[in-house]
Amino acid sequence: MCLDCGCQLAPALTRDFPRSPSSETNTIMRDLLADNDALAQRNRDYLDARGVVAINLMSSPGAGKTALLEATAAALQGEINFAVIEGDLATDNDTQRLRARGIAAQQITTGSACHLDAGMVSAALDEIDLNRIELLFIENVGNLVCPASFDLGQHRNVVLLSTPEGDDKPAKYPVMFRAADILLLSKADLLPLLGDFDPARAERCLRDLANPAPVITLSARSGTGLREWCDWLRAALGAEALRASGSKTNAPAST
Ligand code: MG
Ligand code: ZN
Repeated sequence: MCLDCGCQLAPALTRDFPRSPSSETNTIMRDLLADNDALAQRNRDYLDARGVVAINLMSSPGAGKTALLEATAAALQGEINFAVIEGDLATDNDTQRLRARGIAAQQITTGSACHLDAGMVSAALDEIDLNRIELLFIENVGNLVCPASFDLGQHRNVVLLSTPEGDDKPAKYPVMFRAADILLLSKADLLPLLGDFDPARAERCLRDLANPAPVITLSARSGTGLREWCDWLRAALGAEALRASGSKTNAPAST
């Protein structure tokens, strides 16, 4: 499935290309990422001009991204209006699920590409009424590898790690977890059943990557951690509004 998106070159998908197989491959990947970065900055400028803060939601498949959005909508109802861009390889199941809850959602079906890129997001932005929202979630394709390497024009990266996945994932997928502006340890309601997921160990793995991002243990089902998550969102909106008043633009730390 990676043939279309270039992910067969996954070892080269870092900014300094340390283990890339050939200089020709380096050049192709650099051009691809440079084109993407330019388009991503255009997306960010477009969003900035309309006062919308964009959040790139990343995780492996089934970590609870869509459930988090449903719980967030309920928690922020009447306070913060948001829309969702839904990225999936196939089906619009999650888009339908969100719309059924009254959440504005726009589908991107990537076919064989296992990440979103700035061009896909640019096309989806044309379909969203940005005048009605302050916040835009971009639910990336479930994948802990290449989504971290493609800037979409977002202002923050949110990474979910669900408790059944294991607490050592930040050590195994450092590019993804280095890019996180916040780490959500999702499906926390399963912690008593699992017994072998240690939130402190997951956080240590993140700190070993020199990432100081906040870590929240969260369950969309029970509501644990939702208040802290919503506070983080409010703070992000406030910080971006402040930055906008100084008319500077900003990419997430690690893109
Ligand atoms: Mg989903
Ligand atoms: Zn990919």
